[in-house]
Amino acid sequence: ELHLPNRIRQLAVEHPDRAAVSSGGTTLTYSEFDALTNRVASALATVPATSKRIGALLRMGLPGASSFVGCAKAGLVFTPLNWRLNPGEIADIADDAQLDVLIVEDEFAASARAAAAVLPAVQIVVVGDASAVPGARSWDDFVASGDDIDPGFGDDPRIEVLQLYTSGTTGRPKGVVATHHNLFNEPRNFALYEFTEDSVSLDALPLFHIAGAGWMSTTLSAGLHLVLLGEMRPNLVAAAISEHGITHAFLVPSVINMLVEMPDLSDYDLSTLRLVAYGASPITPTQLARAMDTLGCRFVQRYGMTETMGALTALRADDHDPHGSRSYLLRSAGSPLPGVEVDIRDIATGEPLPGGQTGEIVCRSRNNTSGYWRRDAENAALFTADGFLRTGDAGHIDSDGYLFVTDRVKDMIISGGENVYPIEVESVLSEHPAVAEVAVVGVPDDRWGEAVTAVVRVAPGASRPTEDELLQFTVERLASYKKPRHIHFVDELPRNASGKILKRTLRNEFAPVQE
Ligand code: AMP
Ligand code: MG
Repeated sequence: ELHLPNRIRQLAVEHPDRAAVSSGGTTLTYSEFDALTNRVASALATVPATSKRIGALLRMGLPGASSFVGCAKAGLVFTPLNWRLNPGEIADIADDAQLDVLIVEDEFAASARAAAAVLPAVQIVVVGDASAVPGARSWDDFVASGDDIDPGFGDDPRIEVLQLYTSGTTGRPKGVVATHHNLFNEPRNFALYEFTEDSVSLDALPLFHIAGAGWMSTTLSAGLHLVLLGEMRPNLVAAAISEHGITHAFLVPSVINMLVEMPDLSDYDLSTLRLVAYGASPITPTQLARAMDTLGCRFVQRYGMTETMGALTALRADDHDPHGSRSYLLRSAGSPLPGVEVDIRDIATGEPLPGGQTGEIVCRSRNNTSGYWRRDAENAALFTADGFLRTGDAGHIDSDGYLFVTDRVKDMIISGGENVYPIEVESVLSEHPAVAEVAVVGVPDDRWGEAVTAVVRVAPGASRPTEDELLQFTVERLASYKKPRHIHFVDELPRNASGKILKRTLRNEFAPVQE
């Protein structure tokens, strides 16, 4: 069966001199990338494997791409971690995964040391200055210790290749496992993205998100030239597009917004750009129409999640027409991809809902994860009795088969493309002595999509803390993207009859006033 390592092997034979990966001024051909990933795979194969999980704290770049493909060639599970988390959070995930190896950039050395403290057996490999982590090997030496012989694993499509961490309503991160079979279904998408042989693709997403790892897998398996950027900053994205003649890019809505707002955007040559794929969080029709107008290229929206290994539906380029009679489709997440069944279920009873009604979006396809790593209870809750995966999103399907994602059933905020689970922020803030109660919600935000907002009831007798004081309190204990952007003080939190805090009421009350 065709899958990523086999595609790389095949491309190295059929198009050895074609550019495969560019990153930080280096470009490797498919033949060179195949040889490099053989070395990584054979070096990894010499490390004693118990969990088979190979962790990575890497920005999007060549070490990340070659570790991903190297793991697949060696029959190991690539486990990229969110380097934006703080060292304590990262150590917890490293422990959950029981990593055999952790490959880190030297800028994340503090997190690597924290992981090593809880996992004494982990082998640490450092990209850059290895002396930053006691007992670590350097990436260059590690790769050189391998040979250019493909260990030849990974031929079984049921083999596990990727584990991505997501938090949940419990706030405790869970590893979403993907097999080749789940992940590699990309040829069906080549037409969707209108790829041609000379397409040049940009991946500036984090490696630890399905969108980042998935876009890499998609465009490499299409045999395209893939340009990797370690940071999705709008000016870097614009510079990369002009420098490399990018034709296809995957961007998240918050970055699209910042890109089109750049005052010096016209200094960059973006004329090569043919198609922008976007998703991971909602975009408003106004923002979308403005982006289409400014960038002047085609757009494809994807709707999906980590557990579905990427998109379940897509809004095709031809359905992006702000001026036609179907401009309402700019609010849609499109229609199911081939091989994906999408259904709407009653949120309370789980019963299928007919004809256009709003309920929880569920889906069934070969791409769905078979479950979280070592989490039986959560896995039982993830699927319906008839094997559909619960997305935790709410929406409806119109009579033409278009899905509209209108709300979230799960208690999650998406800010700048990163997921924030309110419970994590609430539990940190509630430890502050002046906080009697706190509820965290996401309010609409032009730049970030949603802004993390804390609503606090001050403890009786305590004096009201300043916003700054509360923010300082979160610094040590939360990754910075989880910190509240707004803090409001109330005398009482709104509750329903059974005492549950009415988060929807808070969201409406503290939403910015719309002009
Ligand atoms: P993650 O697992 O981090 O990829 O987050 C998945 C969640 O992001 C989904 O369940 C949705 O709530 C949201 N999401 C992803 N893509 C879209 C989209 N195109 N439109 C609206 N929400 C989206
Ligand atoms: Mg996301």
